[in-house]
Amino acid sequence: MGDDRVKNEAMEIMGMFQVLPRLVVFDLDHTLWPFYCECLSNRDMPSLYPHAKGILYALKDKGIDIAIASRSPTSDIANTFLEKLGLKSLFVAQEIFSSWTHKTDHFQKIKQKTGVPYTEMLFFDDEDRNINAVSKLGVTSILVDDGVNLEAFRQGLSKFSQNRSSLERNKQRWRNFSQKSSSSQEL
Ligand SMILES: [Mg+2]
Repeated sequence: MGDDRVKNEAMEIMGMFQVLPRLVVFDLDHTLWPFYCECLSNRDMPSLYPHAKGILYALKDKGIDIAIASRSPTSDIANTFLEKLGLKSLFVAQEIFSSWTHKTDHFQKIKQKTGVPYTEMLFFDDEDRNINAVSKLGVTSILVDDGVNLEAFRQGLSKFSQNRSSLERNKQRWRNFSQKSSSSQEL
């Protein structure tokens, strides 16, 4: 499937959801591209997973911000590759550094830079320890099996909207509870 067809399908998928994330964050290695960039050199010509570009451009068209969170120890190679692929200007934040934490510090920086709360973010990564750590922050996080694709994208948006509605339900419950307790105090 060509980039344009993927992009159109991604637009259609987004059209099916009433609530969408404000920011979508992607890992690089084995999420956007099928390799560890530390194993390659600046001189190599990288390529993305087949659906990645169409999904990135669909998000951009829809006005949803995108960012990178990568623990790659070779940020220079990662940056060169993003440049070569013509993607560099798409991202509102690019956090590429190795770290002992499982990307929670990457997300703190992304939140600081963008002002977007964790509950308004969606994250794709291929390592479950990152998924576990980041989802504890309140970010809807999706484990990808063989790179990001339309299937994972649909799954991510669906999980995001489920998480948002349970958050809203809890808020409403809390509002009802505090109204009740304040009116019982008045009696
Ligand atoms: Mg990875």
